Amino acid sequence: MSKQAKGAAKAGKVIIGNWKMKKGLAESAALAKEMVEKFRDFNEDGKVVAICPTLVALTEVDKIVKKSNLKLGAQNVFWEDRGSYTGEVSPQMLIEAGCRYVIIGHSERRKYLLENYSMIHQKVREVLNAEGLVPVVCIGEENEDRKTDRRDFVLLNQLQQALGGIDISESQRIIVAYEPVWAIGSGTAIEPSEATYAHKIIRLALDDMFGMQAVEKSFQIIYGGSVTGKNVKSFSNLENMDGFLVGGASLDAEEFYKICKGI
Ligand code: PEP
Repeated sequence: MSKQAKGAAKAGKVIIGNWKMKKGLAESAALAKEMVEKFRDFNEDGKVVAICPTLVALTEVDKIVKKSNLKLGAQNVFWEDRGSYTGEVSPQMLIEAGCRYVIIGHSERRKYLLENYSMIHQKVREVLNAEGLVPVVCIGEENEDRKTDRRDFVLLNQLQQALGGIDISESQRIIVAYEPVWAIGSGTAIEPSEATYAHKIIRLALDDMFGMQAVEKSFQIIYGGSVTGKNVKSFSNLENMDGFLVGGASLDAEEFYKICKGI
C-alpha cells in the first residue's frame, strides 16, 4: 500500500511545462517569477499547471512558486532511494526540493542517455513508492514507426514495458504523456484525429492492464508535441485528452498561459 494520501481524487486537466536544459538558474528564477505573476488569478476547474526547470534551479523555483497557482516538477529521477549513484537524484530528494511531478522516459533521454524501458519501469516503481510524487511517463513512436504502420505496436509495447506488473493503489496516480517523437520541437503538432486515435489506443491498453475503474481514477493521458497557444483549441475537447506536456511554448509565460487557458 502506498504512503500517498488516501482517497486522492482524479485531478482536473494537467498542463506541464518542460523547460529542458534551456534556462539556467537565474533565468529559471526570472521566468518562474513571470509565470507566478501571469497565473496569479488562474483557478479554472481544478486545472493543474506545473513547471519543470533544470535540476539546479528546483529549490530556487520552489521558493518562488510555493504560494502560487503553479506546481513544481522535475525532468528526471533515479530508481534508488540513496547510495553510490553518481549524478543521480532520488524521488525523496525531489520531494524534499518541492517537486510534485516528475517526467520519466522523455524521448530526448532515451535518445541521448540511452534510457530504456527497463530503467523507466524501475523509475516509475520507485516514484510510486515515494510519497506525493506523480510520474509523468512518456511514450511515443518515431516517424519511421508511423510510416511503417508500427505505431500501435510501439505504443502498446512501451506501455507494457514501462507499467506492466505495477500495482496501482487507489491513492496513486500516473500520467501517461503521448509524445510522438517526430512532433516534438518540430513546430508541427499531430493532427487532432491522430491524437484521438493514439489516446484511445493508450486508454484501451491501460484499461486492459489495470481495469477501467482504476484507470478512470488514477490515470491521465496527456499529449505533447509542438502545442502552442494557437493550436491548443483543436486539442482541448478531444476524447481521453487530459492535458498537455509542453516544451518550447512553456518558455514564454504569455504563450504558456494561453495554452493553459485554452484547454
Ligand atoms: C517535449 O519536449 O516534451 C515537447 C512536447 O516539446 P515541444 O512542445 O517543444 O514540441
